[in-house]
Amino acid sequence: MKIGTKVIRAGLAPAAQGEPFLNGITFAGTYHASGDISTSPYTYGRYHNPTWTQFERALSELEGGIAVSFASGMAAVAAVFGTVLRAGDVLVMPSDCYYTARLLADGFFAEIGVQVRKAPTAGDELNHLLNEAKLLWLETPANPGLDVCDIAALVDAAHKKDVLVAVDNTTPTVLGQNPLGLGADFSVASDTKVLTGHSDLILGHVAVRDSAQAEKLLSWRTQIGAVPGPMEVWLAHRSLSTLEMRLERQCRNALTIAEYLLTRSDVKELRYPGLPLDPSHKVAAQQMQFYGQIVNFVLADRACAERFLKSCKLVIEATSFGGVHTTAERRARWGGDRVPDGFIRLSVGCEDGQDLIEDLAQALSAM
Ligand code: PLP
Repeated sequence: MKIGTKVIRAGLAPAAQGEPFLNGITFAGTYHASGDISTSPYTYGRYHNPTWTQFERALSELEGGIAVSFASGMAAVAAVFGTVLRAGDVLVMPSDCYYTARLLADGFFAEIGVQVRKAPTAGDELNHLLNEAKLLWLETPANPGLDVCDIAALVDAAHKKDVLVAVDNTTPTVLGQNPLGLGADFSVASDTKVLTGHSDLILGHVAVRDSAQAEKLLSWRTQIGAVPGPMEVWLAHRSLSTLEMRLERQCRNALTIAEYLLTRSDVKELRYPGLPLDPSHKVAAQQMQFYGQIVNFVLADRACAERFLKSCKLVIEATSFGGVHTTAERRARWGGDRVPDGFIRLSVGCEDGQDLIEDLAQALSAM
């Protein structure tokens, strides 16, 4: 089956007379479970839930591994750090990856004795920090800078030194890039973003090839209690079926917009991995099936960026990315990322591309 078919059918039960395509949501804190509990597939709501089971089956089919769903992307990140890292271990991670992942590493994990080494996603420095390391964390394309690294090459270098590799695959999704297929040990994602795409929930997952590692993640989820809500999981599963269509439209729009922004003299430092001239393009073309829906650029200064965002009529000023609605924000307002004051992260949605370009053009002219 091609991926476009697979994603629509992922996780669905075999056809059964009178049953829906996607089973309904199970809301349950506890289940009938008398006597020997090993005979009951479900016992208590923090351990398991049939709505999680069908969604995790879908993610497992797409990832090519065993997927475990978590309450948020950060719960998924914390599950990988928490199941792998112990005092004295070395974590190597990008200096430009998602800010809260860096905060968690430099905060809680450094405090319990994990040594954190960092280097930029672009270039070869991560490769030179692997000696005696336990885990290499990658995020490609990195949020928000959109630099990319060569996953297969870094996995090869890391595995030669017995270093495990995890990839935060939030920005491309498993349809845009398949970390387990490229050799990584963990594929991690915030499903709050592109995978579900409607800006209506918070969710995350981790996928692994190794069943012992999957067991550790399940125990972590049960003991920490970072469990996803069944409503969110069911909505995510329903949204998953349109992922390829959304990606196709978003990426087409993103490329058209990036090409338009290239023509504007008031737009500097434009980044989109799908542009042949982008510094990320060569490696992205090697390992990505879709170049994503984030386009970055820099306007003259903070005041210009704020005037631009205020003047947008269609593009919504909001944080996060990956939804069907086009959004943008001045990223420096959060602190945490090394970006100029006028840096705009634009998340391109599924609206008509020409309407979006007209809106951006009038907002840029109003600066
Ligand atoms: N990873 C990346 C790359 C992200 O951008 C985010 C959120 O912005 C996360 C992880 C955390 O996801 P969540 O907000 O679902 O916890």
